[in-house]
Amino acid sequence: MTPTRYTIVPVRPEAHLYRVTCKVEDPDPSGQQFALPAWVPGSYMIRDFARHVVAIRAASGKRAVALEKLDKHSWRAQPVDGSLTVSLEVYAWDLSARGAHLDTGHGFFNGACVFPRVLGKEGAPCELEILRPLGARYRNWRLATAMPRKGAGPYGFGVYLAGDYDELIDHPVEMGEFSLASFRACGVPHDIAITGRHRADLVRLRRDLKRLCERHIRFFGEPAPMRRFVFLVTAVGEGYGGLEHRDSTALLCSRDDLPPEGETGVSERYRTFLGLVSHEYFHAWNVKRIKPAAFVPYDLDRENYTTLLWAFEGITSYYDDLALVRCGLIEKSDYLELLGRSITAYLRTPGRTVQSVAESSFDAWIKYYRQDENSPNAAVSYYVKGSLVALCLDLLIRDKTRGRKSLDDVMRALWRRNGLTGVGLEEDGIERLAEEATGLKLERYFDDWLRSTRELPLKALLATQGVEMGLRPAESGEDKGGRPARSKNAAGLAMLGIRARAQGDDTVVTHVLEGGAAQEAGIAAGDRIVAVEGLRPGQAGLDAALAKRRAGERVEIHAFRRDELMSFEARLRRADADTCVLTESAGARRKPLERWLKPRRG
Ligand SMILES: [Zn+2]
Repeated sequence: MTPTRYTIVPVRPEAHLYRVTCKVEDPDPSGQQFALPAWVPGSYMIRDFARHVVAIRAASGKRAVALEKLDKHSWRAQPVDGSLTVSLEVYAWDLSARGAHLDTGHGFFNGACVFPRVLGKEGAPCELEILRPLGARYRNWRLATAMPRKGAGPYGFGVYLAGDYDELIDHPVEMGEFSLASFRACGVPHDIAITGRHRADLVRLRRDLKRLCERHIRFFGEPAPMRRFVFLVTAVGEGYGGLEHRDSTALLCSRDDLPPEGETGVSERYRTFLGLVSHEYFHAWNVKRIKPAAFVPYDLDRENYTTLLWAFEGITSYYDDLALVRCGLIEKSDYLELLGRSITAYLRTPGRTVQSVAESSFDAWIKYYRQDENSPNAAVSYYVKGSLVALCLDLLIRDKTRGRKSLDDVMRALWRRNGLTGVGLEEDGIERLAEEATGLKLERYFDDWLRSTRELPLKALLATQGVEMGLRPAESGEDKGGRPARSKNAAGLAMLGIRARAQGDDTVVTHVLEGGAAQEAGIAAGDRIVAVEGLRPGQAGLDAALAKRRAGERVEIHAFRRDELMSFEARLRRADADTCVLTESAGARRKPLERWLKPRRG
């Protein structure tokens, strides 16, 4: 097939505009169609990238060719004899890992945001020429991407090559004056390109990421499936997010999550960054190469439904932190704290009794990605519950096989069957494979854990590994769990049954939890609480004001709903014991815990 030739130039960085061209040598004689994706793989929401197309036109040689718009993101060109070129101007002002961004400081794009798909020629190889913006200001810009180079020099502008359209849009590109650190993991070259102001210790990042990447590669088995890998990191004041690709990942983080020079221990913030890196890197196997059949191939025009996001996001979330303790970057106690926090987040979601994790996966497009004030009551996260299902499955297999098998074996079997072959995973595929790989009957567990809202047997399964699960009420709105209580007072917000954020001296209710005191009293999301028993809570905040009161007490609460002052009488409830603390049981047999957290293999 003749290659499709794309060019992209940051034509007006100050106006956030890329100019993209796409040249087809042998267009469809009945009129070539083009389309921009409605979504970007890995982020399950309809984003309609065509809405950022500012201008589009077509030409054959020097002759203009008419374009007809067919729907929100598709166009058809008038039939032509020779080659056909479409040119687009695309507005780019989204700094997230799933968007496209351009200013005078740097540029970043996902191909799905900018490159039109040539219908009928998706399988043709793609050549991409990336041009440097004009002007002295951009003289020192470099380029980072995992896309194979054709004519371009290392980290240079020029021509790159992708096997087909799917590959073209799976290689995000960063351009600007980023800092760069490189290392090899199991012989494979890896780059870390960091954009944004930061003072990260690059030597340390190189060392820690190498250790982590080698852990993941050996987990699935050498050789690594990628020829090279690039971490595209954007450091900002406050931010968090990532998007996975086969040979790279785009990460957005807070600059304070990067380890500063001179720091030695792993701070909570750096642990967050390592967890994100670990998560996205694990995806290079689990979802980018082992894929649900529903994604083979991706249908970029519309939603792609699967009940399996619990496995692709949940299992990945389970292994992201587990890999950190297994490769020695964090301690066992850190891991138990992180796990305690996940369990806490799960227990604080009333929606876990309403929505199963399979339903949560299927409805990701309209629920997880489009959360509102009622989400905690009506939905459960396939990340959080999915990771706890993975935990239960792992511990159940370990217990029932007396430590001979584990979820690790299931993942390696999955890799051999669906990763190395590229065969999509059927909706019931992982359940069948888990039984095959372990020799256990697991159907009723999957029915309970995936397709029902029954509680997960976390306490009993953790006990099999010598881990004791304790529950206590939240101490404050900031208490995420994982650690023993510091005081005996329960959080006021928990007794009222709301989530809230401070706004000046007032508190704005963000969520009213199902069955709580606030709901019973008639308080609603958006209400701005200004007084408790006639007094403004002030600097210490509503949480502290309520924590001084006791469960069962009635309190008068004043709040503005829009511009109307309302009065409510709330009867405070005993705060739920929904905050989880995990500890090693005294006198526990150490072997299972060692085998789980520090296995020799992988
Ligand atoms: Zn993920």
